[in-house]
Amino acid sequence: MNSQITLPARLLIVDDDPINIRLLAHLFEDYDVLFATTGKKALEIALHEQPDLILLDVMMPKMNGYEVCRRLKADSLTADIPVIFITAHSDVNEEIRGLEVGAADYISKPFCPGVVKIRVRNQIELKHAREKLTRLAITDGLTGIANRRCFDEQLAHEWHRATRTNQSLALAMIDVDWFKKYNDHYGHQAGDDCLRQVAMVLTHSAKRDSDFVARYGGEEFALILPMTHHETALIVMGNVCRALSNLALPHALSEFGKVTISAGVAVRMPDEYETAENLVSHADAALYTAKHQGRNQAVLFSNNNLTEF
Ligand code: GH3
Ligand code: MG
Ligand code: MG
Repeated sequence: MNSQITLPARLLIVDDDPINIRLLAHLFEDYDVLFATTGKKALEIALHEQPDLILLDVMMPKMNGYEVCRRLKADSLTADIPVIFITAHSDVNEEIRGLEVGAADYISKPFCPGVVKIRVRNQIELKHAREKLTRLAITDGLTGIANRRCFDEQLAHEWHRATRTNQSLALAMIDVDWFKKYNDHYGHQAGDDCLRQVAMVLTHSAKRDSDFVARYGGEEFALILPMTHHETALIVMGNVCRALSNLALPHALSEFGKVTISAGVAVRMPDEYETAENLVSHADAALYTAKHQGRNQAVLFSNNNLTEF
């Protein structure tokens, strides 16, 4: 049974004339309808309520619909909300202008209610399809956590933020120990299950909102810990190792008898000559050491000295 509840689509109707709003709202009784009678209010509601679509009048005092649309599209937080102009203008040049400022569609009055309903529904379906594609493009299909592409973007973003704010940034590269043997012994499906469990442990161990977990590839994961120093990064990795140890996933071919991970941790100290790629290669170097020192441990890379945890 599918227990997922689908919320009604949220529609923002903007018109300086409340009679028009009532007329349109009547067509969308199955929707969660919000309304605004000024451009300023429309921008506020769009930002805070994130409607699925905006039906926008063109002629309004103070700020007209074109300006409202231009501002919506200029703000990354509202740019993806489709806008349909609904207006008494029927001149084709006005329609071109509306589409040029970023509207998804343009409807002239007098309108046919059935057509408005279908055009609104189509745009909302397109928006949901776009959102699903975006989600898929950044999600790892096996574990449901962020994928490598998303990791690269997030690391670049956090790197710039750390550089700008002069704060430290920690990165852990994590690799499952003896995982080839695990697959050989238990089979690939069990291997896949094991990777899902490791992803879950990582997700639960990275508790701060800004912490970020990704599958880097194969049986390797990455953990980005913004505003985090060595000590805290190693505490988090200690928590990961403990949580995994408590889970006690059997691994008959490992000397530890259960699934373990090795991790390399690198911390960016404010230094304008460093790059995000450096951080990854430092974490990788520390991971390599963790493997060679016996696995099931986290090793910190710092000032060219590798420190065992
Ligand atoms: P080490 O402790 O040195 O990391 O040894 P290891 O065996 O874990 O490392 P190695 O790189 O030799 O093997 C990694 C294995 O991970 C081989 C590969 O088949 C397996 N693997 C990579 N991706 C997946 C996956 O999506 N599912 C499963 N089941 N296995 C995977
Ligand atoms: Mg590996
Ligand atoms: Mg491995």
